[in-house]
Amino acid sequence: MSRAIASTLILASALALAAPAAAAERICPASCDWGYGPGGGPDRWGEVCCPLCDGRRQSPIDILPGKAKAAELPEIRVSYRESHLELSNDGHTIGVADLLTPGANFIELGESRYALTGLHFHSLSEHTIGGRHSPMELHLEHRRTSWDLATIAVLIDEGPDNPAFAPLWSALPASADDPARTVILDPDTLLPESRGYYTYLGSLTVPNCAETVTWYVLREPVLLSAAQIDAFRAIYDHNYRPVQEPNGRVVRTRE
Ligand SMILES: [Zn+2]
Repeated sequence: MSRAIASTLILASALALAAPAAAAERICPASCDWGYGPGGGPDRWGEVCCPLCDGRRQSPIDILPGKAKAAELPEIRVSYRESHLELSNDGHTIGVADLLTPGANFIELGESRYALTGLHFHSLSEHTIGGRHSPMELHLEHRRTSWDLATIAVLIDEGPDNPAFAPLWSALPASADDPARTVILDPDTLLPESRGYYTYLGSLTVPNCAETVTWYVLREPVLLSAAQIDAFRAIYDHNYRPVQEPNGRVVRTRE
């Protein structure tokens, strides 16, 4: 193989890897008027926001535990610590951005390290298990490169009061007009004890719907009290995208 052909092949494969994120930025406007209700709701995101939202590896999906393939998968090694995080309401959800101490919080999967970029909440849950929604879902978003994202999803069910969420729940901004506020939190405290997961290849669940996300849906939910769930749902009670077609994708699991 000539050097020119070899370097063309290397360039072509680099472009193929970079394609989803680059394509999303090229095809789609930086922002568009989307929501979860009638009008700009999820069934119209592909039309009004980004054609990627009509793609074939979209998230969330319904997970069927009996069909998930048990596999040799890496454990999620979580390295989070107490951090100053910026809590805000962006008009679509409430969450924190981990921008104040970049790189301090990360996960490792095999040899790859992914930096935590933020976490936020949905209600109802976006992923369903055997067709069942949980009342809420937590997403912890991580990034290795612009086209290699890893998101941990934690289903939230109803149970006793959960003090780990108090630093966030005592400061929930009720509207997008509320100023952001700094909270001190170790994100590890929001996770369940067991880190077994379901994993599949998917997308962002909001426009631009880029198909750049490997999902890690933890098998064990965390519990919040009815009052804690109600406090979030008083602000957002319908900020979830319906489940998408699996289109032949395989869900694998590590117990
Ligand atoms: Zn999300």
